Amino acid sequence: MDSISGNYDVIVIGGGSMGLSAAYHLGKRNARTLVLEQFTFFNQLGSSAGVSRQFRYPYTEKYLVKMVKESVPFWDELQSHTSQPLLDKVGTLWFGDPTVHTSEGNIGEAEKALTAENVPYTKLTAAQIEKQYLFKNLPANYTGLFQPDGASINLKATLQTLFHQNQKSGFVTLLEEAPVSNIAQHHKRFEVTTPQGKFTADKLVLVPGPYIDNVINLLGFNIAATYWNMTSAYYRKTRLDIQYPTWFVFQQPVGDNGNEVYGFPEVGWDHPGYIRVASDFVLNPLTSPEQRTSIPNPQELAYTAAWVRQHMPGLHPEPEFTSTCMVALSKISNKELIIDFAPPSVPNHENIVIYATGWAAKFVPLLGKILSDLALDGSTPFDISHFKTGSTYFRTAARAEPTR
Ligand SMILES: Cc1cc2nc3c(=O)[nH]c(=O)nc-3n(C[C@H](O)[C@H](O)[C@H](O)COP(=O)(O)OP(=O)(O)OC[C@H]3O[C@@H](n4cnc5c(N)ncnc54)[C@H](O)[C@@H]3O)c2cc1C
Repeated sequence: MDSISGNYDVIVIGGGSMGLSAAYHLGKRNARTLVLEQFTFFNQLGSSAGVSRQFRYPYTEKYLVKMVKESVPFWDELQSHTSQPLLDKVGTLWFGDPTVHTSEGNIGEAEKALTAENVPYTKLTAAQIEKQYLFKNLPANYTGLFQPDGASINLKATLQTLFHQNQKSGFVTLLEEAPVSNIAQHHKRFEVTTPQGKFTADKLVLVPGPYIDNVINLLGFNIAATYWNMTSAYYRKTRLDIQYPTWFVFQQPVGDNGNEVYGFPEVGWDHPGYIRVASDFVLNPLTSPEQRTSIPNPQELAYTAAWVRQHMPGLHPEPEFTSTCMVALSKISNKELIIDFAPPSVPNHENIVIYATGWAAKFVPLLGKILSDLALDGSTPFDISHFKTGSTYFRTAARAEPTR
């Protein structure tokens, strides 16, 4: 292929859901934007793999509940561009041992945060959960909450909508098979190298998902993160009348079984007739995304299948399809998002905006706006103080030589 080049206002590195959302909002502000994706758009090798995600209000931290609320108008705006439902509002059911505190939070503390933010929910006993939501064999001390506005996110449709809006924008250029292998600077302009050519811009937005280190190493720093290759499985419904909300169960770990399990409703867009159940614990975290394989960890799968067999009547207990998805998580207890500028050790750092780590599908439309604000204005009206943690998680490192 002939080498191409071009000059832009902003280059977005990473064409997953976050990169496409950032580009969408940059385009809306008439910023000439280039999105560089190392693989193809809609690839299955990053954090936006698969089809469904959970949109939920329960969080232990009030600021996260608030941010979920803030995301709603941005979901509504994105929904106005497509007839495919982006959110299937089936509600969120959190249940389990009320004394358990996990990286996802704690039921009682989430109730307090929901109350403080005026988000409605109902409290449930173990017997009510079994009767209303068709789980069985729950210990009598389990409690729960149901929040009616939770949803299953059609992530594939979300990506498609953002992609098509970007294609229609006169301001956004989408380039795939364009792995970034070098970032240089000349007179405060960034020069980004890919096998398809060199591109320049005044600003960078770095959203490379679990490949974050490969990109920020080009600027001489890295991130304290861990990488999870998470396993999901699909179980066939044998009782067709059963419909589940999105749900999460909090339980004490048993040996190496983290015992945190979550699941989805049946949705028309993802294996109709099946219910997806996933573990929210990883037996073997990776130290880099390169260690990832597409084979689910068999022990993780077995623990989850055992839980399904014991507690979910109406599902055939053998998983019939599986999938994996890789995510980078910061090494803080609640696995926070990091939204910040590059550290001051990087020249021109105030013009490099970074989003990395965390569970962020529910925030995709809002974070695109926040990242575009940060790139174009250097600030955003949204409160991101809890996520501006680069000074804690970014570490200076030898600058990587151009790799490709
Ligand atoms: C199993 C699993 C379950 C999840 N569940 C939930 C959930 O229920 N709720 C929720 O809110 N969130 C959830 N998440 C998180 C959510 O899916 C992600 O936060 C979200 O999709 C954002 O992805 P991203 O765009 O940051 O990363 P990605 O989708 O990984 O996109 C980054 C892109 O950058 C590209 N890239 C990397 N390096 C380069 C380079 N050098 N040059 C060019 N391109 C590059 C990659 O190829 C990739 O396509 C889950 C994630 C996983 C894996």
